[in-house]
Amino acid sequence: MRIAVYPGSFDPVTRGHFDIIERASRLFDRLVVVVLVNPDKRPVFSAEERVLFIERITAGIENVEVDSFDGLLADYFKEKGATAVVKGLRAMSDFEYEFQMALINKQINPEMETLFLNTSGEYMYLSSSIVRQLASFGGDVSSFIPAEIRDEIVERLRKAGE
Ligand code: ADP
Repeated sequence: MRIAVYPGSFDPVTRGHFDIIERASRLFDRLVVVVLVNPDKRPVFSAEERVLFIERITAGIENVEVDSFDGLLADYFKEKGATAVVKGLRAMSDFEYEFQMALINKQINPEMETLFLNTSGEYMYLSSSIVRQLASFGGDVSSFIPAEIRDEIVERLRKAGE
C-alpha cells in the first residue's frame, strides 16, 4: 500500500490545495492530508475547523483521509508508514524553502522522499495568505475557495478582518 502525506497549514484550504489533493490521490493508494499545527503561526481557523473543511471538500474522493498533527513531520511520516511526502510548487519562490525542507527530512529519515507536484497554471498566484488578506479588506475571494465551503469561509474571514 503506497501512502502519501500532504502537509500544510491550509488556513484556509484553497482550490490550489484541492487541485494538488485530487491529482496526488490518483498517484497513490491512499493520501493523508495533514494539517500541521505550527506554533509560530496564529491561524484564523482552528486545526479542527481546517480538518473539517478539508473533509467536506474531499468527501467524494475515496482514498483521501484528513488528519492534524502537532509535531515533527518526520515522526508523523513514520507513524503512518508513508512512502512519500507530496508538496505543491507554485513559483520559483516556493522552491528554495521546499527544497531545504525536503533535504532536511531526507537527512532525518533517508526513506522520506518528497514529491513535488507543479501547480496548475490557473492557481499559480493563489495562496491562503493572499485569500486571508483580500477577504479582510472585503475583496471577493469566492473563486479561490471550493464551492462547498465558500460561504462559511468568506463570512469568517470577513469577520476576522473587522
Ligand atoms: P499557503 O499558505 O502557501 O497556501 P500551505 O502551507 O497551506 O500554504 O500549503 C501547503 C502546500 O500546498 C505547500 O506545498 C504549498 O506549496 C502548496 N500549495 C499552496 N497553494 C498552492 C497552489 N495554488 N498550487 C499548488 N500548490 C499549492
